[in-house]
Amino acid sequence: MSFIHDLSVTEMVRALKTKTIGAVEVAEHFLNRVEHEKLGTFLSHNRETTLKFARNSQIKLDSNNGGPLEGVPIAHKDVFVTKDFPSTAGSKILEGYMSSFDATVVQRLADAGCINLGKLNCDEFAMGSSNENSAYGNVLNPWDTSKVPGGSSGGSAAAVSARLIPAATGTDTGGSIRQPASFCGVTGIKPTYGRISRYGMIAYASSLDQAGPIAKSAQDCALLLSAMCASDLDRDSTSLDIAQEDFTTDLNCTIKGLRIGIPEEFFGDGLDTGVRAAIDDAINVLKELGAEFVKISLPKTELSIPVYYIIAPAEASSNLSRFDGVRYGYRAKEYTDLIDMYKKTRSQGFGEEVKKRIMTGAYVLSHGYYDAYYLQAQKIRRMIAEDFKVAFMKCDLILGPVAPTPAWGLNEKVSDPLSSYLADIFTLPASLAGLPAMSVPCGMSLNPKPLPIGMQLIGNYLQESKLLNVAHMFQSLTQWHSMIPTESMIETKTGDAR
Ligand code: GLN
Repeated sequence: MSFIHDLSVTEMVRALKTKTIGAVEVAEHFLNRVEHEKLGTFLSHNRETTLKFARNSQIKLDSNNGGPLEGVPIAHKDVFVTKDFPSTAGSKILEGYMSSFDATVVQRLADAGCINLGKLNCDEFAMGSSNENSAYGNVLNPWDTSKVPGGSSGGSAAAVSARLIPAATGTDTGGSIRQPASFCGVTGIKPTYGRISRYGMIAYASSLDQAGPIAKSAQDCALLLSAMCASDLDRDSTSLDIAQEDFTTDLNCTIKGLRIGIPEEFFGDGLDTGVRAAIDDAINVLKELGAEFVKISLPKTELSIPVYYIIAPAEASSNLSRFDGVRYGYRAKEYTDLIDMYKKTRSQGFGEEVKKRIMTGAYVLSHGYYDAYYLQAQKIRRMIAEDFKVAFMKCDLILGPVAPTPAWGLNEKVSDPLSSYLADIFTLPASLAGLPAMSVPCGMSLNPKPLPIGMQLIGNYLQESKLLNVAHMFQSLTQWHSMIPTESMIETKTGDAR
Protein backbone atom coordinates (compact mmCIF):
# COMPACT_ATOMS: atom_id res chain seq x y z
CA MET A 1 0.00 0.00 0.00
CA SER A 2 1.17 3.54 -0.63
CA PHE A 3 1.80 5.93 2.26
CA ILE A 4 -1.32 7.21 3.98
CA HIS A 5 -0.45 10.74 2.87
CA ASP A 6 -0.37 9.68 -0.77
CA LEU A 7 -3.96 8.46 -0.72
CA SER A 8 -6.57 10.60 -2.38
CA VAL A 9 -9.57 11.61 -0.29
CA THR A 10 -11.62 9.13 -2.32
CA GLU A 11 -9.19 6.28 -1.54
CA MET A 12 -8.93 7.33 2.11
CA VAL A 13 -12.71 7.25 2.54
CA ARG A 14 -12.78 3.71 1.10
CA ALA A 15 -9.86 2.51 3.24
CA LEU A 16 -11.48 3.93 6.39
CA LYS A 17 -14.88 2.43 5.60
CA THR A 18 -13.40 -1.02 4.89
CA LYS A 19 -11.26 -0.70 8.06
CA THR A 20 -8.00 -1.13 6.11
CA ILE A 21 -6.86 1.87 8.13
CA GLY A 22 -8.25 3.48 11.27
CA ALA A 23 -9.22 7.12 11.85
CA VAL A 24 -6.77 7.50 14.77
CA GLU A 25 -3.94 5.98 12.73
CA VAL A 26 -4.66 8.41 9.88
CA ALA A 27 -4.85 11.42 12.21
CA GLU A 28 -1.59 10.45 13.95
CA HIS A 29 0.15 9.99 10.62
CA PHE A 30 -0.73 13.51 9.51
CA LEU A 31 -0.08 15.04 12.95
CA ASN A 32 3.44 13.58 12.85
CA ARG A 33 4.01 15.23 9.49
CA VAL A 34 2.55 18.55 10.64
CA GLU A 35 4.68 18.58 13.79
CA HIS A 36 7.84 18.19 11.69
CA GLU A 37 7.06 20.55 8.86
CA LYS A 38 9.29 23.55 8.21
CA LEU A 39 7.23 25.40 5.64
CA GLY A 40 5.29 27.61 8.05
CA THR A 41 1.91 26.32 6.88
CA PHE A 42 0.16 25.77 10.23
CA LEU A 43 -0.78 28.54 12.68
CA SER A 44 -2.32 26.18 15.23
CA HIS A 45 -2.72 22.48 15.80
CA ASN A 46 -3.33 20.38 18.87
CA ARG A 47 -2.67 16.66 19.01
CA GLU A 48 -5.12 15.93 21.81
CA THR A 49 -8.01 17.85 20.22
CA THR A 50 -7.51 16.18 16.86
CA LEU A 51 -7.14 12.70 18.36
CA LYS A 52 -10.36 13.22 20.29
CA PHE A 53 -12.13 13.97 16.98
CA ALA A 54 -10.49 10.91 15.42
CA ARG A 55 -11.60 8.59 18.22
CA ASN A 56 -15.18 9.82 17.83
CA SER A 57 -14.96 9.22 14.10
CA GLN A 58 -13.72 5.69 14.64
CA ILE A 59 -16.73 4.95 16.85
CA LYS A 60 -18.99 6.07 13.99
CA LEU A 61 -17.00 4.04 11.45
CA ASP A 62 -17.23 0.97 13.70
CA SER A 63 -21.00 1.26 13.83
CA ASN A 64 -21.18 1.97 10.07
CA ASN A 65 -22.96 5.28 10.48
CA GLY A 66 -20.20 7.71 9.57
CA GLY A 67 -20.61 10.63 7.19
CA PRO A 68 -19.40 10.62 3.56
CA LEU A 69 -15.96 11.91 4.64
CA GLU A 70 -15.76 10.10 7.97
CA GLY A 71 -12.23 10.11 9.39
CA VAL A 72 -10.64 12.29 6.67
CA PRO A 73 -8.35 14.95 8.16
CA ILE A 74 -8.73 18.50 6.96
CA ALA A 75 -7.30 21.86 8.02
CA HIS A 76 -8.87 25.26 7.60
CA LYS A 77 -7.55 28.56 6.37
CA ASP A 78 -7.34 30.75 9.45
CA VAL A 79 -10.11 33.06 8.25
CA PHE A 80 -12.74 30.45 9.18
CA VAL A 81 -13.66 30.77 12.84
CA THR A 82 -13.38 27.60 14.91
CA LYS A 83 -14.25 26.98 18.53
CA ASP A 84 -11.47 24.41 19.08
CA PHE A 85 -8.54 26.39 17.65
CA PRO A 86 -7.65 30.11 17.70
CA SER A 87 -8.81 32.14 14.68
CA THR A 88 -6.45 34.96 13.71
CA ALA A 89 -6.97 35.68 9.98
CA GLY A 90 -3.17 35.95 9.90
CA SER A 91 -3.39 39.19 11.90
CA LYS A 92 -1.86 40.31 15.15
CA ILE A 93 -5.10 42.10 15.96
CA LEU A 94 -6.77 38.70 16.44
CA GLU A 95 -3.85 36.96 18.14
CA GLY A 96 -5.20 34.15 20.35
CA TYR A 97 -8.83 34.97 19.51
CA MET A 98 -11.16 32.07 20.34
CA SER A 99 -14.54 31.98 18.62
CA SER A 100 -17.57 30.67 20.46
CA PHE A 101 -18.84 28.91 17.33
CA ASP A 102 -17.67 27.18 14.15
CA ALA A 103 -18.07 28.74 10.69
CA THR A 104 -20.74 26.99 8.60
CA VAL A 105 -18.05 25.53 6.33
CA VAL A 106 -16.19 24.07 9.31
CA GLN A 107 -19.43 22.72 10.75
CA ARG A 108 -20.57 21.17 7.49
CA LEU A 109 -17.26 19.41 6.91
CA ALA A 110 -17.28 18.14 10.50
CA ASP A 111 -20.85 16.88 10.00
CA ALA A 112 -19.63 15.03 6.91
CA GLY A 113 -17.02 13.33 9.13
CA CYS A 114 -13.87 15.42 8.54
CA ILE A 115 -11.38 15.60 11.38
CA ASN A 116 -10.04 19.07 12.07
CA LEU A 117 -6.24 19.09 12.12
CA GLY A 118 -5.87 22.80 12.80
CA LYS A 119 -5.59 26.19 11.18
CA LEU A 120 -3.54 27.30 8.21
CA ASN A 121 -1.42 30.36 7.63
CA CYS A 122 -2.64 33.02 5.19
CA ASP A 123 -2.12 36.64 4.23
CA GLU A 124 -3.51 39.00 6.84
CA PHE A 125 -7.30 39.19 6.33
CA ALA A 126 -6.70 37.36 3.03
CA MET A 127 -5.05 40.42 1.48
CA GLY A 128 -2.18 39.33 -0.69
CA SER A 129 -0.85 37.08 -3.43
CA SER A 130 2.24 35.60 -1.80
CA ASN A 131 1.46 34.87 1.86
CA GLU A 132 4.13 37.42 2.78
CA ASN A 133 1.53 39.62 4.50
CA SER A 134 0.85 37.21 7.38
CA ALA A 135 1.70 38.57 10.83
CA TYR A 136 2.93 35.05 11.66
CA GLY A 137 5.59 34.72 8.97
CA ASN A 138 5.85 33.55 5.40
CA VAL A 139 4.86 30.20 4.05
CA LEU A 140 7.44 28.59 1.79
CA ASN A 141 6.68 26.92 -1.52
CA PRO A 142 7.31 23.16 -1.03
CA TRP A 143 8.68 22.87 -4.58
CA ASP A 144 11.37 25.48 -4.02
CA THR A 145 11.64 27.02 -0.59
CA SER A 146 13.14 30.22 -1.98
CA LYS A 147 9.79 30.91 -3.69
CA VAL A 148 6.41 32.09 -2.41
CA PRO A 149 3.51 29.60 -2.26
CA GLY A 150 1.08 32.19 -3.60
CA GLY A 151 -1.67 33.76 -1.56
CA SER A 152 -3.70 34.46 0.26
CA SER A 153 -4.49 30.76 0.92
CA GLY A 154 -0.75 29.96 0.78
CA GLY A 155 -0.78 27.75 3.89
CA SER A 156 -3.65 25.67 2.49
CA ALA A 157 -2.04 25.08 -0.91
CA ALA A 158 1.47 24.42 0.45
CA ALA A 159 0.19 22.00 3.10
CA VAL A 160 -1.76 19.94 0.56
CA SER A 161 1.16 20.02 -1.87
CA ALA A 162 3.60 18.81 0.82
CA ARG A 163 1.09 16.10 1.81
CA LEU A 164 0.75 17.44 5.35
CA ILE A 165 -3.01 17.11 4.94
CA PRO A 166 -5.17 15.44 2.28
CA ALA A 167 -7.25 18.58 1.70
CA ALA A 168 -7.84 22.07 3.01
CA THR A 169 -10.28 24.90 2.85
CA GLY A 170 -9.39 28.22 1.30
CA THR A 171 -11.11 31.45 0.40
CA ASP A 172 -10.97 33.36 -2.85
CA THR A 173 -11.80 37.06 -3.10
CA GLY A 174 -9.75 37.81 -6.20
CA GLY A 175 -7.85 34.57 -6.80
CA SER A 176 -6.72 33.31 -3.40
CA ILE A 177 -7.70 29.69 -3.99
CA ARG A 178 -6.68 29.46 -7.64
CA GLN A 179 -3.33 31.27 -7.57
CA PRO A 180 -1.73 29.42 -4.60
CA ALA A 181 -3.13 26.12 -5.94
CA SER A 182 -1.42 26.91 -9.22
CA PHE A 183 1.90 27.89 -7.57
CA CYS A 184 1.95 24.72 -5.43
CA GLY A 185 0.72 22.19 -8.01
CA VAL A 186 -2.61 21.32 -6.40
CA THR A 187 -6.24 21.59 -7.50
CA GLY A 188 -8.62 24.23 -6.16
CA ILE A 189 -12.08 25.51 -6.96
CA LYS A 190 -13.81 28.78 -6.18
CA PRO A 191 -17.51 28.13 -6.67
CA THR A 192 -20.17 30.57 -7.84
CA TYR A 193 -20.56 33.47 -5.40
CA GLY A 194 -23.23 32.46 -2.89
CA ARG A 195 -22.80 28.69 -3.28
CA ILE A 196 -21.05 28.34 0.08
CA SER A 197 -22.11 30.12 3.24
CA ARG A 198 -19.87 32.99 4.36
CA TYR A 199 -21.13 32.67 7.93
CA GLY A 200 -18.10 32.54 10.22
CA MET A 201 -15.68 33.52 7.47
CA ILE A 202 -13.79 36.59 8.66
CA ALA A 203 -14.80 39.14 6.02
CA TYR A 204 -12.43 40.86 3.62
CA ALA A 205 -14.64 42.05 0.73
CA SER A 206 -18.11 40.61 1.23
CA SER A 207 -19.38 40.93 -2.34
CA LEU A 208 -16.42 38.86 -3.57
CA ASP A 209 -15.39 36.49 -0.74
CA GLN A 210 -16.12 32.86 -1.46
CA ALA A 211 -14.89 29.66 0.19
CA GLY A 212 -13.75 26.54 -1.62
CA PRO A 213 -11.66 23.38 -1.30
CA ILE A 214 -8.01 22.82 -2.20
CA ALA A 215 -7.05 19.17 -2.73
CA LYS A 216 -4.89 16.86 -4.83
CA SER A 217 -7.40 16.30 -7.61
CA ALA A 218 -10.65 17.48 -9.15
CA GLN A 219 -12.33 14.32 -7.87
CA ASP A 220 -11.33 15.14 -4.28
CA CYS A 221 -12.48 18.74 -4.75
CA ALA A 222 -15.84 17.45 -5.99
CA LEU A 223 -16.26 15.33 -2.85
CA LEU A 224 -15.40 18.20 -0.53
CA LEU A 225 -17.44 20.77 -2.40
CA SER A 226 -20.51 18.53 -2.14
CA ALA A 227 -20.15 18.64 1.63
CA MET A 228 -19.41 22.38 1.80
CA CYS A 229 -22.25 23.73 -0.35
CA ALA A 230 -25.70 24.27 1.05
CA SER A 231 -28.09 27.14 1.34
CA ASP A 232 -27.65 29.03 4.63
CA LEU A 233 -30.02 31.95 4.12
CA ASP A 234 -30.81 32.33 7.81
CA ARG A 235 -27.21 33.22 8.55
CA ASP A 236 -25.84 34.55 5.23
CA SER A 237 -28.23 36.71 3.23
CA THR A 238 -26.15 36.26 0.04
CA SER A 239 -26.32 32.48 0.25
CA LEU A 240 -28.08 31.05 -2.81
CA ASP A 241 -31.39 29.34 -2.24
CA ILE A 242 -30.64 26.18 -4.20
CA ALA A 243 -30.69 22.47 -3.43
CA GLN A 244 -27.54 20.69 -2.38
CA GLU A 245 -25.70 18.92 -5.21
CA ASP A 246 -23.48 15.89 -5.44
CA PHE A 247 -20.64 17.13 -7.63
CA THR A 248 -19.17 13.65 -8.04
CA THR A 249 -22.07 12.24 -10.07
CA ASP A 250 -21.13 14.03 -13.31
CA LEU A 251 -17.45 13.08 -13.24
CA ASN A 252 -16.39 10.88 -16.19
CA CYS A 253 -18.91 12.41 -18.62
CA THR A 254 -17.58 12.72 -22.15
CA ILE A 255 -16.40 16.17 -23.14
CA LYS A 256 -16.72 15.44 -26.85
CA GLY A 257 -18.09 18.52 -28.58
CA LEU A 258 -17.70 20.73 -25.50
CA ARG A 259 -16.87 24.28 -26.67
CA ILE A 260 -14.01 25.82 -24.74
CA GLY A 261 -13.37 29.54 -25.17
CA ILE A 262 -9.85 30.95 -25.30
CA PRO A 263 -9.88 34.64 -24.36
CA GLU A 264 -7.31 36.50 -26.45
CA GLU A 265 -6.66 38.95 -23.59
CA PHE A 266 -5.30 36.10 -21.44
CA PHE A 267 -2.50 35.34 -23.93
CA GLY A 268 -0.80 38.71 -24.37
CA ASP A 269 2.86 39.71 -24.18
CA GLY A 270 3.14 39.55 -20.38
CA LEU A 271 2.56 35.80 -20.33
CA ASP A 272 5.61 33.73 -19.34
CA THR A 273 6.70 31.44 -22.20
CA GLY A 274 6.78 28.37 -19.93
CA VAL A 275 3.22 29.07 -18.78
CA ARG A 276 2.09 29.55 -22.36
CA ALA A 277 3.69 26.27 -23.46
CA ALA A 278 2.03 24.36 -20.61
CA ILE A 279 -1.40 25.82 -21.45
CA ASP A 280 -0.90 24.95 -25.14
CA ASP A 281 -0.10 21.35 -24.16
CA ALA A 282 -3.20 21.24 -21.96
CA ILE A 283 -5.31 22.47 -24.88
CA ASN A 284 -3.97 19.59 -26.97
CA VAL A 285 -4.88 17.04 -24.27
CA LEU A 286 -8.42 18.42 -24.13
CA LYS A 287 -8.62 18.30 -27.95
CA GLU A 288 -7.69 14.61 -27.75
CA LEU A 289 -10.64 14.20 -25.40
CA GLY A 290 -12.91 15.72 -28.03
CA ALA A 291 -13.25 19.32 -26.82
CA GLU A 292 -13.53 22.05 -29.45
CA PHE A 293 -11.82 25.40 -29.03
CA VAL A 294 -13.18 28.79 -30.00
CA LYS A 295 -11.60 32.23 -29.81
CA ILE A 296 -13.38 34.65 -27.53
CA SER A 297 -12.73 38.10 -26.14
CA LEU A 298 -13.01 39.50 -22.62
CA PRO A 299 -12.21 43.10 -23.54
CA LYS A 300 -12.31 44.57 -20.02
CA THR A 301 -9.76 42.11 -18.57
CA GLU A 302 -7.15 44.83 -17.88
CA LEU A 303 -9.70 47.02 -16.10
CA SER A 304 -10.39 44.27 -13.60
CA ILE A 305 -7.25 45.31 -11.70
CA PRO A 306 -8.18 48.94 -10.93
CA VAL A 307 -11.83 47.94 -10.44
CA TYR A 308 -10.97 45.20 -7.95
CA TYR A 309 -8.42 47.34 -6.10
CA ILE A 310 -11.11 49.97 -5.55
CA ILE A 311 -14.04 47.71 -4.63
CA ALA A 312 -12.17 45.25 -2.41
CA PRO A 313 -10.46 47.92 -0.24
CA ALA A 314 -13.74 49.87 -0.03
CA GLU A 315 -15.50 46.83 1.42
CA ALA A 316 -12.50 45.98 3.58
CA SER A 317 -12.40 49.45 5.11
CA SER A 318 -15.96 48.94 6.26
CA ASN A 319 -15.60 45.27 7.32
CA LEU A 320 -12.44 45.89 9.33
CA SER A 321 -13.93 48.77 11.32
CA ARG A 322 -15.13 46.16 13.82
CA PHE A 323 -11.57 45.58 15.02
CA ASP A 324 -11.48 48.38 17.55
CA GLY A 325 -9.84 46.86 20.62
CA VAL A 326 -13.22 46.56 22.34
CA ARG A 327 -14.98 43.65 20.73
CA TYR A 328 -12.20 41.35 19.53
CA GLY A 329 -8.62 40.37 20.20
CA TYR A 330 -5.76 42.77 20.65
CA ARG A 331 -5.94 46.07 22.57
CA ALA A 332 -3.04 48.55 22.87
CA LYS A 333 -1.46 48.43 26.31
CA GLU A 334 -1.19 52.20 26.85
CA TYR A 335 -3.59 54.92 25.78
CA THR A 336 -5.00 58.17 27.08
CA ASP A 337 -8.68 58.02 26.10
CA LEU A 338 -11.09 56.00 23.96
CA ILE A 339 -10.08 57.56 20.62
CA ASP A 340 -6.41 57.09 21.46
CA MET A 341 -7.14 53.44 22.32
CA TYR A 342 -8.79 52.89 18.91
CA LYS A 343 -5.90 54.58 17.13
CA LYS A 344 -3.13 52.72 18.94
CA THR A 345 -4.90 49.36 18.80
CA ARG A 346 -5.42 49.60 15.06
CA SER A 347 -1.96 51.08 14.33
CA GLN A 348 -0.26 48.33 16.29
CA GLY A 349 -2.64 45.48 15.44
CA PHE A 350 -2.88 45.78 11.64
CA GLY A 351 0.00 45.16 9.24
CA GLU A 352 1.18 47.52 6.49
CA GLU A 353 -0.84 46.07 3.62
CA VAL A 354 -4.06 46.02 5.62
CA LYS A 355 -3.60 49.65 6.68
CA LYS A 356 -2.90 50.64 3.08
CA ARG A 357 -6.13 49.03 1.95
CA ILE A 358 -8.22 50.54 4.76
CA MET A 359 -6.92 53.98 3.76
CA THR A 360 -7.54 53.38 0.05
CA GLY A 361 -11.01 52.09 0.84
CA ALA A 362 -11.91 55.04 3.05
CA TYR A 363 -10.61 57.40 0.35
CA VAL A 364 -12.63 55.94 -2.55
CA LEU A 365 -15.77 55.94 -0.40
CA SER A 366 -15.30 59.49 0.83
CA HIS A 367 -17.74 62.23 -0.14
CA GLY A 368 -15.55 63.92 -2.75
CA TYR A 369 -14.34 60.75 -4.50
CA TYR A 370 -17.21 58.27 -4.26
CA ASP A 371 -18.58 59.10 -7.73
CA ALA A 372 -15.19 59.32 -9.37
CA TYR A 373 -13.84 56.01 -8.09
CA TYR A 374 -16.26 53.73 -6.31
CA LEU A 375 -19.28 54.33 -8.54
CA GLN A 376 -17.21 54.08 -11.72
CA ALA A 377 -15.68 50.84 -10.50
CA GLN A 378 -19.13 49.38 -9.81
CA LYS A 379 -20.24 50.27 -13.34
CA ILE A 380 -17.22 48.63 -14.92
CA ARG A 381 -17.71 45.59 -12.70
CA ARG A 382 -21.12 45.19 -14.31
CA MET A 383 -19.55 45.48 -17.79
CA ILE A 384 -17.01 42.78 -16.91
CA ALA A 385 -19.88 40.45 -16.00
CA GLU A 386 -21.59 41.38 -19.31
CA ASP A 387 -18.44 40.44 -21.24
CA PHE A 388 -18.66 36.94 -19.76
CA LYS A 389 -22.34 36.76 -20.66
CA VAL A 390 -21.51 37.48 -24.30
CA ALA A 391 -18.58 35.02 -24.22
CA PHE A 392 -20.75 32.21 -22.87
CA MET A 393 -23.00 32.52 -25.94
CA LYS A 394 -20.08 31.15 -27.94
CA CYS A 395 -18.65 28.59 -25.51
CA ASP A 396 -19.48 26.30 -22.58
CA LEU A 397 -16.48 27.21 -20.50
CA ILE A 398 -13.36 29.35 -20.66
CA LEU A 399 -9.72 28.26 -20.38
CA GLY A 400 -6.60 30.30 -19.71
CA PRO A 401 -3.66 30.61 -17.35
CA VAL A 402 -4.22 31.20 -13.62
CA ALA A 403 -1.31 33.60 -13.34
CA PRO A 404 1.09 35.21 -15.83
CA THR A 405 4.14 33.48 -14.25
CA PRO A 406 4.97 30.58 -11.94
CA ALA A 407 5.75 31.34 -8.26
CA TRP A 408 8.09 34.30 -7.75
CA GLY A 409 10.93 34.62 -5.22
CA LEU A 410 10.42 35.48 -1.55
CA ASN A 411 10.76 39.26 -1.07
CA GLU A 412 10.86 39.79 -4.85
CA LYS A 413 7.72 41.91 -4.99
CA VAL A 414 7.58 43.17 -1.41
CA SER A 415 8.93 46.61 -2.24
CA ASP A 416 6.72 46.87 -5.33
CA PRO A 417 3.19 45.84 -4.31
CA LEU A 418 1.77 47.05 -7.65
CA SER A 419 3.58 44.26 -9.45
CA SER A 420 1.88 41.69 -7.25
CA TYR A 421 -1.51 43.36 -7.86
CA LEU A 422 -0.83 43.03 -11.61
CA ALA A 423 -0.20 39.30 -11.20
CA ASP A 424 -3.90 38.91 -10.25
CA ILE A 425 -5.00 39.89 -13.76
CA PHE A 426 -6.39 36.51 -14.85
CA THR A 427 -8.17 35.59 -11.62
CA LEU A 428 -9.92 38.90 -10.91
CA PRO A 429 -12.43 38.91 -13.81
CA ALA A 430 -14.23 35.72 -12.66
CA SER A 431 -14.25 37.00 -9.07
CA LEU A 432 -15.79 40.33 -10.06
CA ALA A 433 -18.45 38.50 -12.09
CA GLY A 434 -19.08 35.96 -9.29
CA LEU A 435 -18.40 33.02 -11.63
CA PRO A 436 -17.07 29.60 -10.62
CA ALA A 437 -13.43 29.03 -11.56
CA MET A 438 -10.76 26.49 -10.81
CA SER A 439 -7.05 25.88 -10.99
CA VAL A 440 -5.74 22.60 -12.40
CA PRO A 441 -2.04 21.61 -12.50
CA CYS A 442 -0.99 21.38 -16.17
CA GLY A 443 2.79 21.58 -16.36
CA MET A 444 6.13 22.45 -14.79
CA SER A 445 8.55 25.19 -15.51
CA LEU A 446 12.27 24.78 -14.78
CA ASN A 447 13.21 27.84 -12.84
CA PRO A 448 15.87 26.31 -12.18
CA LYS A 449 13.99 23.96 -9.85
CA PRO A 450 10.66 22.62 -11.13
CA LEU A 451 7.75 24.93 -10.36
CA PRO A 452 4.15 23.97 -11.04
CA ILE A 453 1.92 25.76 -13.54
CA GLY A 454 -1.87 25.85 -13.32
CA MET A 455 -4.52 26.29 -15.96
CA GLN A 456 -7.70 28.11 -15.10
CA LEU A 457 -11.17 26.91 -16.07
CA ILE A 458 -14.01 29.43 -15.72
CA GLY A 459 -17.62 28.28 -15.94
CA ASN A 460 -20.97 29.97 -16.22
CA TYR A 461 -22.99 30.47 -13.02
CA LEU A 462 -23.57 27.22 -11.09
CA GLN A 463 -21.63 25.15 -13.63
CA GLU A 464 -19.19 23.71 -11.08
CA SER A 465 -20.01 20.15 -12.20
CA LYS A 466 -18.92 20.95 -15.72
CA LEU A 467 -15.64 22.47 -14.53
CA LEU A 468 -14.92 19.56 -12.22
CA ASN A 469 -15.70 17.02 -14.93
CA VAL A 470 -13.39 18.68 -17.48
CA ALA A 471 -10.64 18.89 -14.86
CA HIS A 472 -11.21 15.26 -13.88
CA MET A 473 -11.08 14.06 -17.50
CA PHE A 474 -7.89 16.07 -17.99
CA GLN A 475 -6.41 14.52 -14.85
CA SER A 476 -7.32 11.04 -16.03
CA LEU A 477 -4.94 11.57 -18.99
CA THR A 478 -2.19 13.57 -17.25
CA GLN A 479 0.01 13.18 -14.19
CA TRP A 480 0.72 16.82 -13.24
CA HIS A 481 -1.64 16.67 -10.25
CA SER A 482 0.10 13.58 -8.82
CA MET A 483 3.59 15.07 -8.85
CA ILE A 484 4.90 15.77 -5.37
CA PRO A 485 7.76 17.87 -4.07
CA THR A 486 10.62 15.79 -2.67
CA GLU A 487 10.67 15.12 1.06
CA SER A 488 13.98 16.94 1.50
CA MET A 489 12.35 20.14 0.31
CA ILE A 490 9.64 19.70 2.91
CA GLU A 491 12.04 19.13 5.78
CA THR A 492 14.40 22.06 5.21
CA LYS A 493 13.30 25.59 5.68
CA THR A 494 15.40 28.21 3.94
CA GLY A 495 14.74 31.82 3.07
CA ASP A 496 14.07 34.45 5.66
CA ALA A 497 10.71 33.18 6.82
CA ARG A 498 9.82 33.46 10.50
N1 GLN B 1 -4.47 39.08 -4.35
C1 GLN B 1 -5.77 39.60 -4.15
C2 GLN B 1 -5.77 40.59 -3.01
O1 GLN B 1 -4.75 40.79 -2.42
C3 GLN B 1 -6.75 38.49 -3.91
C4 GLN B 1 -6.77 37.99 -2.51
C5 GLN B 1 -7.88 37.02 -2.24
O2 GLN B 1 -8.44 36.44 -3.15
N2 GLN B 1 -8.22 36.89 -0.97
O3 GLN B 1 -6.77 41.17 -2.71
